[in-house]
Amino acid sequence: MTTNLHSPKRVTALPPTWCPGCGNFGILGSIKAALDQLTVTPDQAVFVYDVGCSGNMADFVYAYGFHSLHGRALSSAAGIKLANHHLPVISVIGDGGCFGEGVDHFIGLSRGNHDITVLTHDNYLYSLTTGQKSPLTPKGTVTPSTPDGTIDEAFNPLGVAILNQATFVARGFAGDIPHLTKLLIAAISHSGFSLLDILQPCPTYKKDRSYAWYRDHIYYLDQEAGYQTNDRKLALQKTLETDRLPVGIFFEETKPAYHQQVISLKDTPLVSQTIDSINIGPALKEFI
Ligand code: SF4
Repeated sequence: MTTNLHSPKRVTALPPTWCPGCGNFGILGSIKAALDQLTVTPDQAVFVYDVGCSGNMADFVYAYGFHSLHGRALSSAAGIKLANHHLPVISVIGDGGCFGEGVDHFIGLSRGNHDITVLTHDNYLYSLTTGQKSPLTPKGTVTPSTPDGTIDEAFNPLGVAILNQATFVARGFAGDIPHLTKLLIAAISHSGFSLLDILQPCPTYKKDRSYAWYRDHIYYLDQEAGYQTNDRKLALQKTLETDRLPVGIFFEETKPAYHQQVISLKDTPLVSQTIDSINIGPALKEFI
């Protein structure tokens, strides 16, 4: 097969393997639409996938991709960005990998304002491994790993991001592709750390969070009179709402991204720099 990196194609010839009705289909549709509207060709962006149902998207999106170890998609994405900061870097990860195994990376990269876009497929479970509890599973939920119901309280990803100085924090819904596409475009266009947490129905293992349930429970922040996306405290309050779930941009601000503050990256991306003049001899001597 010939690979044309400048093709307007968005998906590969492989049919997705997700269960019928999975929210991942809607997210893939939004990614395609966002790349179209941003006119990003496959050689102009990198997707970094974690392990899980969401990570299987690596086979379907037609763009540069890297499939990381579980919970390491964000750190891999940050490394790629530091290597070539001209590339948009988008991380596709489940709620288990991002807020469980990868939570330290999530907090650290948020604090550093690393210029990556994080798309969390939030279905409240580890679905690929048959629906065990994740850090986001609501308290009391019965799962294969918690037959008597979960004991611990659910993690608040948007609140943690806002408290750790993230510069773009939003929530979308996989069942509203036009709205999710707008959020994706805003997240990818943002300079700095952007979190887009996506409510993703999993009809196989989380039947009580159906598309109809979400439609009954979500409301749109951009239709909320007086809501300002530059108020960190107000945004934090919004993350505490659980009876009704706000979707949209919770918070955004402009601050220098991490790579913009690294002196050695100021003029040239690392990938374009020469290493001929670097002498590692003195450093090696310390270990001999
Ligand atoms: Fe989607 Fe759930 Fe099936 Fe995984 S198990 S593909 S998240 S519906």
